Amino acid sequence: MKPIPQMEPSYDQAEQEAVQRYLAGGGWLTEFKKTEEFANAIASFTASPCCVITNNGTISLSLALMALNIGPGDEVLVPNLTMIATPNSVKLVGAQPILADIDAKTLCLSLSEAEKKITSKTKAVMYVAFNGRSQNMHEVADFAKKHKLLLIEDAAQALGAHSQGRHIGTFGIIGSFSFSVPKIITTGQGGALVTQERSLYEKIRRLKDFGRTEGGCDIHDTIGYNFKFTDLQAVIGIEQMKKLPQRITRKKEIYRLYQSRLEGIDAVEFIPTNLNEVPPWFIDIYVPDPDRLAATLKEYGIGTRRIYPPIHSQKSYQLEQSFPVTEKYAQRGLWLPSSIKLTDDEINFICDKIARFYKERH
Ligand SMILES: *Cc1c(COP(=O)(O)O)cnc(C)c1O
Repeated sequence: MKPIPQMEPSYDQAEQEAVQRYLAGGGWLTEFKKTEEFANAIASFTASPCCVITNNGTISLSLALMALNIGPGDEVLVPNLTMIATPNSVKLVGAQPILADIDAKTLCLSLSEAEKKITSKTKAVMYVAFNGRSQNMHEVADFAKKHKLLLIEDAAQALGAHSQGRHIGTFGIIGSFSFSVPKIITTGQGGALVTQERSLYEKIRRLKDFGRTEGGCDIHDTIGYNFKFTDLQAVIGIEQMKKLPQRITRKKEIYRLYQSRLEGIDAVEFIPTNLNEVPPWFIDIYVPDPDRLAATLKEYGIGTRRIYPPIHSQKSYQLEQSFPVTEKYAQRGLWLPSSIKLTDDEINFICDKIARFYKERH
């Protein structure tokens, strides 16, 4: 068997030809018609009336906060188990991310824990659909409403995921996606914001383009920056979007196959996942000894990755608080090979090695 990476980007002739066609056509490289077309593809896929494409999924979160006037003196509730970009995007606008523990059923923000952290400064809650999973998002929206908080969804890991038949990212006032390399579709770097509110859309569009009243015009009624995308990336994104439906199906198949092959092993825990609504982005398992398992798999050329350490334990945060559920799952979590290119044979090979590891040890 050749080495199996934990993750790798996937693109082919279609992207190559699209880039060549674009370059042959003499485009200006920066965002224009192709970016608009990519935005329309995301809007229609998520059933959102408005979508803005940004340069990445961290800036898109910060832009969402800026558009909602969240900044110094404000607090934003964030789950402790997430990619560091989530709380850092709050720091970028000068607001304070307030970490709350997660719920063991979904590994997403625990609403009861979040509720305990609400103060008079709390303005918003940033809900992360961790690995595409979530609780019933109507309940999350109700929670935000009840406490007069703005709901921002970090849906970076949830393109293609739904709750109650509705796309993740569309329950809050603004939803954010990422197209970084490991995500289900990629443009190298890239992000998107979706919203139902036309006025917010306009505000975000200006914020990311120097506050220009319209593209290419040098009239600036408001302050803005430069968080624009490029058409060169958009042509890749458009091709990736055409592949998304098949990828969603395959991600679900991959998860199902891993689960069916590993569920007999007591040491291996899967998070219950409704595959009708969720295409897990990464295959995440929770085991007592993830580093030893990872080292053994590495001997067979199988790549894995530890899931994120709790945010509060990172040197950049260092909070002396206890978050028992986050700590438990972060200590146990391991991402198995999750590339869309994985074959069933490779998955069987990986599962055999995991089964053997636990048989020999117990
Ligand atoms: C990938 C990711 C981000 C950051 O996106 P970038 O495009 O890499 O900036 C934010 N939040 C979560 C949950 C992510 O997985």
